[in-house]
Amino acid sequence: MSDPSPKAPLPTAPPVPTDAGSICVAQEIVLKGLPVSPGIIIGTVLLVDDEHLKPIRRVLQKDSVAAELARLDAAIESAIVEIQNVHAHAETQMGKETAQIFLVHQMMLRDKSVVGPIRQRIEKEQVCAEYAAYEALSALANQFRAMKNSAFATKVNDIDDLRHRLHTQLAGEQRKRLEHAEPNTVVVARDLTPSQTASFDRSRIVGFATDLGGMTSHTAIIAKALEIPAVVGVQQMAKHAHDGMAIIVDGDTGAVILHPSPSTVAQYHRMIEQRRLYRANLTDVADLPSVTLDGEPVAVVGNIELPDEVAKVLKAGGTGVGLYRSEYLWLTRHDEPTEEVHFEAYKRCVELCAGRDLTIRTFDLGADKLTQSREEIPERNPFLGNRSIRYCLRNVPMFKRQLRAILRASAIGPVKIMFPLVSSLQELRQGKFILHDTMEELSEEGVAFDAKVQVGIMIEVPSAALQAEAFARECDFFSIGTNDLTQYTLAVDRINERVAHLYQPTHPAVIKLIRDTARAARRHNTPVSCCGEAAGQVEYAMLLMGLGLRTLSVSSGVIPQLKRFIRSVTVAQCERVARQALSLDSDALITNYLRDQARKIVPEAFSGRAAD
Ligand code: PEP
Ligand code: MG
Repeated sequence: MSDPSPKAPLPTAPPVPTDAGSICVAQEIVLKGLPVSPGIIIGTVLLVDDEHLKPIRRVLQKDSVAAELARLDAAIESAIVEIQNVHAHAETQMGKETAQIFLVHQMMLRDKSVVGPIRQRIEKEQVCAEYAAYEALSALANQFRAMKNSAFATKVNDIDDLRHRLHTQLAGEQRKRLEHAEPNTVVVARDLTPSQTASFDRSRIVGFATDLGGMTSHTAIIAKALEIPAVVGVQQMAKHAHDGMAIIVDGDTGAVILHPSPSTVAQYHRMIEQRRLYRANLTDVADLPSVTLDGEPVAVVGNIELPDEVAKVLKAGGTGVGLYRSEYLWLTRHDEPTEEVHFEAYKRCVELCAGRDLTIRTFDLGADKLTQSREEIPERNPFLGNRSIRYCLRNVPMFKRQLRAILRASAIGPVKIMFPLVSSLQELRQGKFILHDTMEELSEEGVAFDAKVQVGIMIEVPSAALQAEAFARECDFFSIGTNDLTQYTLAVDRINERVAHLYQPTHPAVIKLIRDTARAARRHNTPVSCCGEAAGQVEYAMLLMGLGLRTLSVSSGVIPQLKRFIRSVTVAQCERVARQALSLDSDALITNYLRDQARKIVPEAFSGRAAD
């Protein structure tokens, strides 16, 4: 989030090409982003581009230029084959004349005046093929655009189309690069989608850092699930990085260091050892009860994205699953799971939980999760669009396939069903109606399920928090999702690094909504938990406990630290802190106050953590 701060040049540093193509001595570059997944990693950069953004100006070593030209040639040949296929198809569908346009496209890709400038940029500027093609073809399109003649307007379209096609071909190569990453690779990108991240081979990709992204983006959540250190929102990093460069990613503080000096590397090795010792010290709490000093039980359960994570949650000392983000079933396959795929996943979770609580959240698709790339016309504002329960209610057969599988799994062991992003009672009622309909179908088919399965909702929209009283009458439990509740209360996009400083779960408005939800739930004896990322921070957990919450659902990595905290504090302390926090009128004051209070109780949890 800050400008790079180069230190003095190192005599030992290898030469690297600069933006202008000349050679200079590499410098250590220290950058700062948002720490989203803890841990420190020292690895080697693999720069990954994004198909939807302008390519990064990746500078090449001189001896890689020939290989890059060959890459370009291969991409052009593949694009030509692709266009030939499109041409053949178009001829049968639209006739010879209309399809001719694709012959023109093929000719253009063989035309020296089109391809020549791309090659020249690679040779002269020593830049990657993606960037060279993008720049050269954009320049060509601009020349035609400037001619202000409608005959040339179609040329602009043709060139844009070719640019996109070439980019997609080269991006396909990128995917292969990711698949064949060397061990100890740190992915550096301007942005990564949740599904890209979910497909990382954990044995070779050990961390990542991106220019874009916010604290609670789903890409960040996946990083935690994979237990790889990650920093997002670094803003100025990708253009300074190149393949093979050494990098340090500090997921505890948000520091990203490109080309670190030997002394920095040594310093980070020491920090890695300290963190290892700190974590090793926490393992003893796994088997101890999660109970405050004054004897109040506070359940710590896990957030999972994939069934196998249940084992990690239990090993860390969690006593069940408070949030299974079932939509990841979809994100890792890219198409709708069949009822059997659903069932197998839920059955596995139930078996691993072995009688403990398991809350399965129905598909929370939409926004940054999947649906937009499948839409012919993407939504203009997908975070306020057809997402989550709304998406399910508009895709009833899909929704029912999921509900059938959850219900079938409920015959094997305890399961709760949770609807995401409910914003009106109507949605809850419709969801329950479809659930009951599905139950009837299963009964008619003689399929077993738990007819008393509990149904709850996420409280992650202000309208739901404000109507908590009414919701409490009609559902069995609440889980407060601070990730979205913060976003929707403060009108701050949770994945936008430019407004990351405004994204504060400690904002008094968010805290008041949580307080009111907890009060309404208490009046109706409705259990209420919190499964947002904030619950995993000890200072926020202290606030939540003070507001009356007795279940916290967090990623497995933070469970030991949270349990240690719960065992070190009294409910009376938490209530006093919550009262005081509610009397403060800004997120900055509340954040500092909560940190100070929690630091007094578990100072060790704050060593190495990012300061604001
Ligand atoms: C939340 O919004 O707090 C939540 C837990 O859901 P997700 O992060 O999956 O949107
Ligand atoms: Mg949410």
